[in-house]
Amino acid sequence: MSETVLVAGAGGFIGGSLIADLRAQGTTNIRAVDIKPMDRWYRRFDDVDNRQMDLKIDSNCIEACDGVGQVYQLAADMGGMGFIENNKTDCMLNVLITTRMLMAAVEKGVDRFLFASSACVYNVEKQKGHEAILLKEEDAYPAMPEDGYGWEKLFSERMCRHFREDHGITTRVVRYHNVYGPHGTWDGGREKAPAAICRKVIAALETGDHTIEIWGDGKQTRTFMFIDDCVRGTQMIMHSDIEEPINLGSDEQVHISGLVDIIEQIAGVTLERSYDLSAPKGVNARSSDNTMIREQLGWAPDTPLRRGLEQTFHWIHDQYRARQSGQNVVQ
Ligand code: NAD
Repeated sequence: MSETVLVAGAGGFIGGSLIADLRAQGTTNIRAVDIKPMDRWYRRFDDVDNRQMDLKIDSNCIEACDGVGQVYQLAADMGGMGFIENNKTDCMLNVLITTRMLMAAVEKGVDRFLFASSACVYNVEKQKGHEAILLKEEDAYPAMPEDGYGWEKLFSERMCRHFREDHGITTRVVRYHNVYGPHGTWDGGREKAPAAICRKVIAALETGDHTIEIWGDGKQTRTFMFIDDCVRGTQMIMHSDIEEPINLGSDEQVHISGLVDIIEQIAGVTLERSYDLSAPKGVNARSSDNTMIREQLGWAPDTPLRRGLEQTFHWIHDQYRARQSGQNVVQ
């Protein structure tokens, strides 16, 4: 029997795809935990030990970690800019999940523990210009992360480090940069830019109202990582000997306006654009520096944005139509 792998946050976007990939590679003992009712999970597999649990509660963390060898700690109350700028308390309270999961993991003798951190830990002062700077791992310090969500991620990163140093548990910290792809949030207020723009373009196509509203001035620079790269890199980092936090993101830079261009091309439509300058738009420029991951793993996320967006667009289009026809889709 292989050791049990726990995916916390399994009903979410990355957790669901990670489990699909673990299964595809032959992992048989998977425990999947999420606070959401199971009919709201993006992906759910009958051969997995699925449990609905709130991992802010100590006893649930202990139960979840019982008999487990590896923990992927992805559980968090989070969303795109619109969510994290308006729900800072909820984002900070995620600290309860990671702290209690680390304590439970030590108590239950877990071997390896991976924590999903974020590019939001990077010092916001370094991201104010419109020129996208490549964020190296060291650029998280001196600490001035994104308010709320970023501070919690940075604190939890350090908690992982101290648990490793003081309690001997192997911890890994991965800093995700904007993950996108099928089977993720695409409506309801927690969605991120690629999914939101796909949905808006699809709505324009379906309704015949050929206009689109873009958050900010469209000049913000970002990189977006396709889910397949995220899932692969996450497992590589889990099984590596990389002790310090490491970037996992694409370095293919795009302006938000350029992102709209690509999605319009995929949809075969040109829309009239308006810009909402009062909407949450995040920092001006952010990009992943992949020097460390290339050196350490000999690999970095490499799915071309256009290819990943095609898959994402078609999946959201299917979801949109299913919802229009009255089906109860998870969005
Ligand atoms: P997601 O919101 O789709 O999944 C997170 C899951 O955690 C949700 O299903 C949610 O129900 C669950 N959860 C929340 N509170 C919980 C609790 N108390 N107990 C149990 N489960 C709980 O998000 P995702 O995109 O899959 O992100 C996974 C992780 O990666 C998160 O920690 C997130 O902060 C981090 N991250 C994601 C991105 C990205 O672009 N998606 C970027 C940076 C960091």
